[in-house]
Amino acid sequence: MADASFKGKVAAVTGSTSGIGLAIAEEFAKAGADIAINGFGDPAAIDAEIARLRALGGRVEYFGSDMSKGDQAEDFVRQTLAKLGRCDILVNNAGVQHVEPIETFPAEQWDKIIAINLTAAFHTIKAAIPGMKANGFGRIINIASAHGLRASPFKSAYVAAKHGLLGLTKTAALELAETPVTANSICPGFVKTPLVEGQIADQAKANNMSADEVVQKIILASQPTHRFVETSEIAGTVLFLAGPFAANITGAAISVDGGWTAR
Ligand code: NAD
Repeated sequence: MADASFKGKVAAVTGSTSGIGLAIAEEFAKAGADIAINGFGDPAAIDAEIARLRALGGRVEYFGSDMSKGDQAEDFVRQTLAKLGRCDILVNNAGVQHVEPIETFPAEQWDKIIAINLTAAFHTIKAAIPGMKANGFGRIINIASAHGLRASPFKSAYVAAKHGLLGLTKTAALELAETPVTANSICPGFVKTPLVEGQIADQAKANNMSADEVVQKIILASQPTHRFVETSEIAGTVLFLAGPFAANITGAAISVDGGWTAR
């Protein structure tokens, strides 16, 4: 039976048609929340996802806002407020990656990654704060990365965006510290989603290795557990931060990375 601890709450999750975002939306739906989902993909697959989430009992709205565009990112929150009445929990999760040395890194990839992985969160947070303050409750949760705390070569835009996202989160936390609104980041290690599967394929080609070798020798080499983090483990951390026991956690960057940043 679904845990209804988020009944009456509205959770808005960017980039929730796939991977980590989809798992977060699903856990909120199971826990009784109404949800606003977002992201790209095959329209039939998105419709199927919406139907599956609605079957869990709550209200579900989909908004196709493009997070690379500031006005659309803001509009995602505005539409959530208009259709679902409130935005109690905002999860900035949409993200993209491009792996290439700085010397040849395409400027348009830099702009896109910074826009989606960092600037979109500024716009959604800005739009969500007034309603959260007025309702006397708010949880802002930004899905950063171990790359918000550590760098890797060839991921300049991603590392810069995720470090920036931690800075934005801490600033929001300080500005909101005397209100019932918290702001935190989660820093996942490697999670096997389409975003990472693309990297495995690229690395296998570049290094003339099998996908299995890339996973063991390159991808999971940085993660002391040598296991991928599960999407459900990120979703569970989000629900904890959104719940009552986390009211005094703000401005934090919580690592869920199999020990990566313990080194
Ligand atoms: P994913 O590719 O499975 O999902 C990304 C989601 O973002 C999809 O729903 C996609 O449609 C959406 N998206 C992409 N561009 C968008 C845009 N312009 N507007 C709106 N939505 C857009 O990736 P994932 O691995 O689930 O990543 C989710 C988040 O977790 C990202 O911020 C990523 O940086 C972060 N993260 C992932 C890992 C990992 O190992 N997978 C590790 C650390 C952090």
